[in-house]
Amino acid sequence: MKRIIVIGAGASGMMAAIAAARNKAAVTVVDAMERAGKKILLTGNGRCNLTHMDEHPEDSCFGADRGWIRAVMRQFPPAETRRFFAELGLPTFEKNGYVYPVTGQASSVAAVLTAEMRRLGVKLKLSEKILFLEKEDRIWKARTASWCYEGDAVILACGSKAAPKTGSDGSGYELARMTGHRIVPVSPALTPVICEGDFFRSAAGVRCRAEVSLYPRGTDGKSRGQALHRERGELLWTNYGVSGILVFQLSRFISSSRRPEKELILEADLLPDLSEDELFRTISARAEALGRERISVLFAGMLNEKLIPLILKNAELTGKDSCEKLLREKGRIEALVHGIKHVLLIPKGTKSFDACQVCAGGVDTAQTDCRTLESRLRSGLYFAGEILDVDGLCGGYNLQWAWASGYTAGRAAASDGTPGPV
Ligand SMILES: Cc1cc2nc3c(=O)[nH]c(=O)nc-3n(C[C@H](O)[C@H](O)[C@H](O)COP(=O)(O)OP(=O)(O)OC[C@H]3O[C@@H](n4cnc5c(N)ncnc54)[C@H](O)[C@@H]3O)c2cc1C
Repeated sequence: MKRIIVIGAGASGMMAAIAAARNKAAVTVVDAMERAGKKILLTGNGRCNLTHMDEHPEDSCFGADRGWIRAVMRQFPPAETRRFFAELGLPTFEKNGYVYPVTGQASSVAAVLTAEMRRLGVKLKLSEKILFLEKEDRIWKARTASWCYEGDAVILACGSKAAPKTGSDGSGYELARMTGHRIVPVSPALTPVICEGDFFRSAAGVRCRAEVSLYPRGTDGKSRGQALHRERGELLWTNYGVSGILVFQLSRFISSSRRPEKELILEADLLPDLSEDELFRTISARAEALGRERISVLFAGMLNEKLIPLILKNAELTGKDSCEKLLREKGRIEALVHGIKHVLLIPKGTKSFDACQVCAGGVDTAQTDCRTLESRLRSGLYFAGEILDVDGLCGGYNLQWAWASGYTAGRAAASDGTPGPV
């Protein structure tokens, strides 16, 4: 019977262990933490958005070449994820494409995975951190401070550096380096963005609907060219910058850029459901109707009151100016429209690994075979999950990656690296 060591009992490690054990391997899972699946418990605000109905989840993932990611996702697509969990007694439901367990509890996901590992006779060794990994005489040896686990194959599923309190402290990258693998620089992704300026303190806590675009930054400090990425949804203002899912989706591009403050700029449209013409007409009509009233009154029903000073400042107006002034002075309304639909936010960087959900970067996928996730450098060494240079958008794509890669690596490791269907 083939002996397989899985390092890491997160989403991808548990899936790899189950796939390997179902393919008749003797599996030992080793994890540094005192319980398996600690990160799963945090997912989806405790509800676990475990996959997305998207038939092409690879299109919402970054890092590795898209064709490479597709080859892995195809071996265990989202429909298979739902079927797998249903068979483990965890039915799921879908909302706007996002898939959750019917219990509404992330802990249910961790519970059914650990139960399935027990049923299959997988050995789970907790509070054991692997410090060294080497291959001697065709045997893989994973050493803790006081013990050595031996196997015919090893699956590295140690996660990234995101949310290190859950166990993923980046030590997996060291184990990969030790075995000769290149690590694509690792940076936080799905995380808030820190911005320049002192306005943010006064707007902290505001939530508004917005469309935020990421642009290259011109030498004049403004956006230039085509948007690199665009997201619409709820924008959360904080005392250091901006947050919310739409900002998370853009954050990987900022954190993985070496000089974000010089190269990139965010532009927020604070009334994305109105075109510039519609907004112009709306402001003009309201200004006519309000006459001598203050401009701040005109915006009372359109924008959160804490954001109005920013808009007025950008248009060189104050809240005390009258609506008449807008009609009297040429170009004022155009300036306001521009100020609302093109709020410039200058990123200084992103929040750190402690605050991010995933990491961009990781083990260079060019050094692995997408059919098996076996290393091209060291036979019998496989990778699964976030340790690889793959990260996805919010929406269940990261866990889908964990399940698909865990399944692919586990199945192939148990079957002597036999490639799965691509
Ligand atoms: C707050 C939060 C919310 C999220 N919500 C979602 C969501 O709703 N949907 C979604 O798709 N994704 C979500 N994600 C991302 C998703 O949870 C991860 O992408 C996924 O769990 C990664 O799985 P993994 O198995 O690769 O790594 P991890 O889950 O990080 O597991 C790695 C394991 O390896 C162990 N380990 C590390 N190094 C060693 C070592 N040297 N020796 C022994 N053990 C080691 C760790 O203790 C850990 O248990 C969220 C992440 C966070 C932080």
